[in-house]
Amino acid sequence: MQEIIFATGNAGKMKEIRSIMADLVLNGEPVSVRSMKEAGIDVPILEDGKSFAENAMIKARAVASFAKGAIVLADDSGLEIDHLGGEPGIYSARYLGEDTSYHIKNQNLIDRLVGVRDPERSARFVCAIACVLPDGTSFTKEAAIEGFIGYEEKGENGFGYDPIFMVPQYGRSTAELSEEEKNQISHRGKALRAVKEELNENFDRK
Ligand code: IMP
Repeated sequence: MQEIIFATGNAGKMKEIRSIMADLVLNGEPVSVRSMKEAGIDVPILEDGKSFAENAMIKARAVASFAKGAIVLADDSGLEIDHLGGEPGIYSARYLGEDTSYHIKNQNLIDRLVGVRDPERSARFVCAIACVLPDGTSFTKEAAIEGFIGYEEKGENGFGYDPIFMVPQYGRSTAELSEEEKNQISHRGKALRAVKEELNENFDRK
């Protein structure tokens, strides 16, 4: 069985990747997906890249050196707000400090947009996924979901900046979407499906 190790400790991300990769068959074999923790890999990673793609590749490479024979995937994601010059961007998790609650982070971003009207409140969630193959070759896929920053927090689902990220086609925040609805349109869902396609097309040797 071909193994994929996903460089994350986040249970929600593991659930999403497992469901998306469930029907992937490589070289005639189904694929198993484990987190780096499940694979017994614990490596300190310094995310000092200048883009989502660079940070994702830094994580994937760090884990790949301990993952003999497995395909390693790592993701990096965040929220870009156009009116704030792309902030918080690659610093999304660290914005206002790693331990600051998302209620405070979200309210702060809403406050920074006071007086800014809808078209200028445009924003996107971006996700880059890096993939390192057992032979050391690699590729990266990036995807985004476009939306607007809301005027107040809405919804209880999801995590992070979901309560302030409004999806135009639903007229709801991503925290008001079900897990299934969000996975279908999300930056991470799209990037993961692109990785799966690439693996299917170019790395299925049989
Ligand atoms: P990382 O990719 O796990 O490093 O997380 C980046 C940060 O971006 C998260 O901690 C969240 O703050 C934010 N983020 C990324 N994707 C989402 C999302 O789907 N919803 C809400 N916040 C997100």
